[in-house]
Amino acid sequence: MVLPIVKYGMPVLRQKGARVESVTPVIKKLIADMFETMHAHKGVGLAAQQVGLPVQVMVIDVRDVTDRPSSLEVGGKPAKVEEYMPLVLINPKVTAVGQPATGPEGCLSFPEIYADITRPEVVDVKALDREGNPLEFRCGGLLARAVQHETDHLHGILFIDRMDKKTKEDLRPELELLQAEAKALLKSG
Ligand code: ZN
Repeated sequence: MVLPIVKYGMPVLRQKGARVESVTPVIKKLIADMFETMHAHKGVGLAAQQVGLPVQVMVIDVRDVTDRPSSLEVGGKPAKVEEYMPLVLINPKVTAVGQPATGPEGCLSFPEIYADITRPEVVDVKALDREGNPLEFRCGGLLARAVQHETDHLHGILFIDRMDKKTKEDLRPELELLQAEAKALLKSG
């Protein structure tokens, strides 16, 4: 089921996600719905907060992006990114490995807003997979960027928090508009 995407200004986007203790049928259904929702909106990643649930679950699929490479290492060996897509990460822990890199980012909760964001280019990731089994890998490029962007969501952090002052200032009219829309939505219940 394609779920509505929660837009900037809605309080759930600022909520820290609860850790998932076990992959219940409810979590499995959430994951399936998140995949459908992400693909319907042509996103490369989606966090549970973006469909209204503050739990530490994200989905990622970078296969459709051909102009921005990703790298992946599993168990210290290079792995094929496509074979791990689409990817589910539960309770992820991300550790920076590489130097910072700056690249463009968008977010389904901020329609038509894009900005350059600086993040570590390579990260180590520890998480649970969709079955609740431990998963560890090192990734770089777009995949690393997506994992970090979605992990931020799971902690109530948004990409506007990582923009430089000038960029955020330039986007203020758009951000205020989104906030006003959220306020109206909240009022109407
Ligand atoms: Zn986002």
